[in-house]
Amino acid sequence: MGNGKIYVIGLGPGGREQMTTRALRALEECNCVAGYGLYLNLIEGLIAGKERIETGMTRELERCRAALDAALDGKTVALVSSGDAGVYGMAGPLLEVCAGSPVPIEVIPGITAACSGGALLGSPLTCDFACVSLSDLLTPWEVIEQRLRGAAAGDFALVLYNPSSKKRADALPRACAILLETLPPETICGLVRSIGRKGESRTLTTLGGLAAQPCDMLTTVFIGNSKTRAVDGWMVTPRGYRGL
Ligand code: SAH
Repeated sequence: MGNGKIYVIGLGPGGREQMTTRALRALEECNCVAGYGLYLNLIEGLIAGKERIETGMTRELERCRAALDAALDGKTVALVSSGDAGVYGMAGPLLEVCAGSPVPIEVIPGITAACSGGALLGSPLTCDFACVSLSDLLTPWEVIEQRLRGAAAGDFALVLYNPSSKKRADALPRACAILLETLPPETICGLVRSIGRKGESRTLTTLGGLAAQPCDMLTTVFIGNSKTRAVDGWMVTPRGYRGL
């Protein structure tokens, strides 16, 4: 049998209406789906009857190798990530694992939490912004601190992915303390949780109040730049037009 193919698919934040048509078509076409169990459950209705390669949260490389093996076996494989597969997702590791293999690969973009969460809050990322993951699983905490200080010094609006987990309950308060070295406590901030899923919520606060907000693995945090304002309950970073 000839080689199959691998689609690396960003599913968006959750919910079919936030998936692209291209992602839906690739899911339809594949006969084998690989991904973290929670995400496979989210798309249960779209992948009924298809072979599944399911591995735990921290078994990403195993999942990539299993996807490659299935494709070498002639299968059309969909490797799925939440949001966009290229943003703290599976696209990078898959491309590295498949280096030198004859299997064709297509990376299909999805709506990352910065965009879907930004839309829930209003328009916090109108101008230049940076994303920092607070997970120190693969990045040393010193590097994370350095990036937070760089973003604050550059007056970037900031999106924090992975702001908390059971093992790192203090990550957000630590990040806040670093940002407060440079930024005023009045800086407008927002949190979004479970975007596109059951229990979706949004909160507006300030940098001074951010550390005390409840926050977990399903939360994404937004920190405004020096111009960001609260406008009728929306978080808005002005584009800079005169007359507004
Ligand atoms: N590839 C994903 C990010 C994976 S890292 C993307 O592009 O969105 C995991 C982090 O992403 C979470 O800790 C959270 O900060 C954010 N995230 C992913 N899905 C989310 C959702 N539905 N609601 C809120 N935050 C989400």
